[in-house]
Amino acid sequence: MTKKRKKSKAKETVVTCPYCNQLADLQDSSVVYNQSYGMIWICLPCQAWVGVHKDSREYKPLGRLANKELREAKIEVHTLFDKLWKHKIIKYNVSKNKARDAGYKWLARQMSIPTSKCHIGMFNLQQCQLAVEICKPYAEKLENKVNV
Ligand SMILES: [Zn+2]
Repeated sequence: MTKKRKKSKAKETVVTCPYCNQLADLQDSSVVYNQSYGMIWICLPCQAWVGVHKDSREYKPLGRLANKELREAKIEVHTLFDKLWKHKIIKYNVSKNKARDAGYKWLARQMSIPTSKCHIGMFNLQQCQLAVEICKPYAEKLENKVNV
């Protein structure tokens, strides 16, 4: 696919920066990373960006644009939360998908949000902080004990 075609397709999708309410630009992720991981929606003034769905021809964003603070918060949630559900794979001998789905269901209940809204990529800063608070004690338990 040529760059020209990518641009015309992308016009069908409009993404707004949640920090400044300006339109985000579609660019290759190499503008922010050392190498290309595909396209991203980016707001340069806010240094906020989000990846796109791999199979999406319309370059649908994976969530909302995240600035540095939110990106770091999401990484923290993932570090803790992933530890929890990955532990279940071994403990209950279930598949990765099953363990992760059950993990998200559990997290959604703890956060009092619908499971359909419970994706770390969609979380805002407050939700990230809440998720960290919820997951941290469990993750710490896992670190201290071999068998929980
Ligand atoms: Zn912005």
